[in-house]
Amino acid sequence: MREIQYPDWHQDNWRLLMDCLARGRLPHALLFAGAPGLGKARFARRLSQAILCRNRDADGNACQACQSCLLFRAGNHPDFKTVAPLEGKTIIAVDQIRETGDFLSLKSQYGHYRCIRIAPADRMNENAANSLLKTLEEPPQGTVLMLVSDKSARISATIRSRCQKITFAVPARETALTWLKPRLPAQMQEEAGVLLALANGAPMAALELAQGELMAHRRPMLEDLEGIFSRQADPVSIADKWLKLDAKASLYWLYSWLVDMARLGMGGADPHLANPDFREDLRKLIKLTDMKDILLNIDRVEKAILQLEGQVNQQLLLEDLLIACQVGRSK
Ligand SMILES: [Zn+2]
Repeated sequence: MREIQYPDWHQDNWRLLMDCLARGRLPHALLFAGAPGLGKARFARRLSQAILCRNRDADGNACQACQSCLLFRAGNHPDFKTVAPLEGKTIIAVDQIRETGDFLSLKSQYGHYRCIRIAPADRMNENAANSLLKTLEEPPQGTVLMLVSDKSARISATIRSRCQKITFAVPARETALTWLKPRLPAQMQEEAGVLLALANGAPMAALELAQGELMAHRRPMLEDLEGIFSRQADPVSIADKWLKLDAKASLYWLYSWLVDMARLGMGGADPHLANPDFREDLRKLIKLTDMKDILLNIDRVEKAILQLEGQVNQQLLLEDLLIACQVGRSK
């Protein structure tokens, strides 16, 4: 069987938890926290499969071949359950958490453990969180609840206090590139460093970026921004265009460009940039605005990114933001 390559930066957390498992001391609730794009949900899945496997190898990895592994890989393991927002929804509702309670009240089918992965756990609404708290207070024997979150501070303190927190750190650049490069298409090999910087060092987020269509629109979008700053372009039609591409990603890019402009504008020799390939373009953009407006716009984009996660008219949000970017200059 083809050997599975697990990310290097997961190894320390893996060994820690495997050690707990071997000693029969695995916490009944784990919180996998850290930046997006580090593979936390994937790690939770790998851990669940290993916990349920009948024939783990010396490193604690699932054998991929026992009956438990076959069921797991087919997505049919009766002792594993995943919870995520339902199709078209942004939150995890109380009924979904109640179902996990029912699931845990049944006896394990194949062994000692029952695993539940909740991702993203910060999407539970208040009722769902309260319902989960009941399970966390009196977890049935053999329960392993895995909460996965990029924004763990949004999870209530009472829930967090009942979970063992396992933090995922951004890997060293070389480690990340070693993982990323073989997974990129040949024509993007040279952009590996830029992709990684754009993804704040998170390898899986960098790969996602490379696989999305948006990468091809990155430079034209920067030119759109130049058009806005120089008053050559209409913010409303640019907003419309960006919305059709991807509202969330365009806001993150706008944010990273503005932050890089602030870094460049602050002076200092050769600051580290998230967009190193746009260094000269961003220097030109700085001349079209001023530092006060750049900082103000960073603030606006941050707020807009947060709003975007709720129920909001994305068109209006983007329009307002881009108009504000343009108006800044007229003061
Ligand atoms: Zn197995």
